[in-house]
Amino acid sequence: TAAARAEGVWKVYGSGEAQVTALRGVNAEFARGRFTAIMGPSGSGKSTLMHCLAGLDSVTRGEVFIGDTEVTGLGDAGLTRLRRDKVGFIFQQFNLLPTLTAAENILLPMSIAGRKPDPEWYRTVIDTVGLGDRLGHRPTQLSGGQQQRVACARALVARPEVIFADEPTGNLDSRAGAEVLGFLRDSVRDYGQTIVMVTHDPNAASYADRVVFLADGEIVDELANPTAASVL
Ligand code: ADP
Ligand code: ADP
Repeated sequence: TAAARAEGVWKVYGSGEAQVTALRGVNAEFARGRFTAIMGPSGSGKSTLMHCLAGLDSVTRGEVFIGDTEVTGLGDAGLTRLRRDKVGFIFQQFNLLPTLTAAENILLPMSIAGRKPDPEWYRTVIDTVGLGDRLGHRPTQLSGGQQQRVACARALVARPEVIFADEPTGNLDSRAGAEVLGFLRDSVRDYGQTIVMVTHDPNAASYADRVVFLADGEIVDELANPTAASVL
């Protein structure tokens, strides 16, 4: 089975005059161990699609699966468990807790779930993320790129079915962005992690295996093995 799948997904916000159709029957599959970028103009439905896939937003019609789990059939408790155990998130704003060290931030979602990472896997993630002795520092003592690498490690350490990344390089300069994207690409290539990333940046999309283009709530194009030039 695919790591994530949308089948005939419609999303309508509001009602009457204020009604907005954000997704119009989207079908999409995200194979295990693949890195997909979602691109498209502002307002085309990228965030909505990602939120529907991750169980952060309900769909109006259609079905969403994460692995074998039908997200659209889950109640509140099931959705909480899905977000906790099956999906990881990386946000544009890093979303780290300022009072915790980098290492504590990385372990926090698993601690909340009452779980501990496999020690060998934890070491692998820590070594690859390249923070060295900064693991004991708080977010304010780290650069943006380092903070985002902490957020990447936090998402990766639980080995979720899918990591959803929403403009992960939006607040980074190109060098820090390249480091974060390289880390994400390596986690796909070396460890079979599945990643779905929303981005505006053709250069960021060129790190993915595939680009899906959205326009006005529909998938209008798809590109395999993108390069920055081919995305433009
Ligand atoms: P993108 O991520 O591609 O910029 P979005 O998924 O954020 O697009 O938005 C798609 C459409 O849905 C836009 O017209 C947007 O205004 C609308 N929309 C998004 N979220 C909401 C919401 N919570 N309430 C009403 N309309 C929304
Ligand atoms: P945006 O990218 O549109 O500025 P955010 O990235 O801050 O928004 O958050 C996107 C959505 O994900 C919001 O609806 C928010 O409530 C939800 N969210 C933020 N952080 C988490 C989290 N750690 N776990 C689950 N949902 C989250």
